[in-house]
Amino acid sequence: MKATVSEDCIGCGLCESTCPEVFAIGDSGIAEPIVDEVPADAEDTAQEAADNCPVSAITVE
Ligand code: SF4
Repeated sequence: MKATVSEDCIGCGLCESTCPEVFAIGDSGIAEPIVDEVPADAEDTAQEAADNCPVSAITVE
């Protein structure tokens, strides 16, 4: 399972709060995945982060 963040991200930080194992706000001020593969024990929270992103910038698949 991989997570991606599109350029629609507004840098609100919600995904980093929800799933810090996978997402972090980068130097550019927008979120980015910090792992190539979503760890099995973080799949639920990664999906939760995708569901709750206010601009639907996250894809987890
Ligand atoms: S929740 Fe969405 S808009 Fe907010 S930082 Fe994460 S990817 Fe960006």
